Amino acid sequence: NENSKREWNLENSYVELPDMFYKEIEPNPVRDPKLVVLNEEVIQMLGLDKSELQSDTGIHILAGNSVPKGSHPIAQAYAGHQFGHFTMLGDGRALLFGEQKTPTGETYDIQLKGSGRTPFSRGGDGRAALGPMLREYIISEAMHGLNIPTTRSLAVVTTGEPVYREREEIGAIMTRVASSHLRVGTFEYAFRFGGVEGVEKLADYTIDRHYPDARNDANPYLSLLNRVINRQAELVSKWQMAGFIHGVMNTDNMSICGETIDYGPCAFMDTYDPKTVFSSIDIQGRYAYGNQPYIAGWNLARFAESLLPLLDDNKERAVEMAQDAIGGFSELFKKYWLKGMRSKLGLFNEEQEDEALIESLLGIMQKSDADFTNTFRALTLNELEKSELSKAAEFTQWQELWMARRERQDETKEASVKLMKEVNPAVIPRNHRVEEALHAAENGDYKVMEKLMHALKDPYAYSAEQEEYCSLPPQTDQTYQTFCGT
Ligand code: AMP
Ligand code: MG
Ligand code: MG
Repeated sequence: NENSKREWNLENSYVELPDMFYKEIEPNPVRDPKLVVLNEEVIQMLGLDKSELQSDTGIHILAGNSVPKGSHPIAQAYAGHQFGHFTMLGDGRALLFGEQKTPTGETYDIQLKGSGRTPFSRGGDGRAALGPMLREYIISEAMHGLNIPTTRSLAVVTTGEPVYREREEIGAIMTRVASSHLRVGTFEYAFRFGGVEGVEKLADYTIDRHYPDARNDANPYLSLLNRVINRQAELVSKWQMAGFIHGVMNTDNMSICGETIDYGPCAFMDTYDPKTVFSSIDIQGRYAYGNQPYIAGWNLARFAESLLPLLDDNKERAVEMAQDAIGGFSELFKKYWLKGMRSKLGLFNEEQEDEALIESLLGIMQKSDADFTNTFRALTLNELEKSELSKAAEFTQWQELWMARRERQDETKEASVKLMKEVNPAVIPRNHRVEEALHAAENGDYKVMEKLMHALKDPYAYSAEQEEYCSLPPQTDQTYQTFCGT
């Protein structure tokens, strides 16, 4: 059967956009590629063949030494606001092979990250170090396990060539799989440099690829805006509920299809504190945990601005439409957040006072330096004696209110616990465990990473093997730092 043949099945729809949106590039061969990680689940999803990918031909493709059948390799052009400042960017170290059409009819971008210089590289070497590529691999797969929309990773290869950062590092290339790499920054680029026609072509492409239903609405472009706002509101609410801090929410790192993208200095929060920041360069705390919803709204306003010429011929009306849409973001976010937080507390129905109950718990958590994940885990398992919370004077009272609140619903206690287990992860990729796995891998031992990833595959399993990944670092990780662009 021809259709069940597991092989590259690439389309190149992006190159049908106007030339300004990309540059054709050639592969930049590396000396001695070695496959170090391969994702079986993603191989299946893409309809690829494992032994083919493991063969010399397969590895040379994953290293960017050659291109797969049907590929038209490009680097994508985009701009973006970095820490609030507009800049011209583009794929400075990535190569898009094309879009893989899967056996189930889905389409995924196949992109190499760390594949060498492109016309957008500016001063950079176009390369990536092993640690950060494995880090993206681990965290993005963990996000997938947590049911948070995300790009995924097919493979990581080492290049056999060093890269120079603060010290000499092992060079590596990651194969990233995304529903697309359309970014808010892609629209900003079209708006500034492509005129109305450029924005229109990009918006039409985006609607066809991600939001085909918008086509049937009275104003498809306004519908596109609203749909992107909706997806981002849902996405960021999921980040908040998992304690995930993206770390560099520049507009070029915000995906139009609503996937988490560009894992740089991201990390999961341990101790609950809205001001938590891990990124070494985020001095002002612009991308702190508690700021993420506001920043998402800010980024979406940049998206809305880029769409203005398409919303209405009358400029004032267009601005009004955009403002209304953006104004709706915080309400949408709140709706998703409340729904999610109710679930985290085992609540099915809605009461007016739920928000106060949730805020009050968060307040006690912050005051008592409670671990975010373990608090909800302890509430789920009713093992509060282990939690920092039990030391807080106000907690007993809160707990009584919560118990009483749980009584005021039709569902049983068992159903409530089951709901909590579905949304409160038993494990997250804790910073010290990720670092430990990366350190071992950099020394040639991938077992630590494999074991960690196995525990993270279904973080809601509450299995015995996950137990050891629940413990906090020996010392607090509040001083933990993450780095960009490495
Ligand atoms: P990021 O911080 O990964 O979102 O990257 C921001 C911009 O810098 C993007 O345009 C990247 O392509 C570019 N960039 C990051 N690292 C490098 C590198 N080593 N060489 C060339 N460009 C890079
Ligand atoms: Mg980026
Ligand atoms: Mg990047």
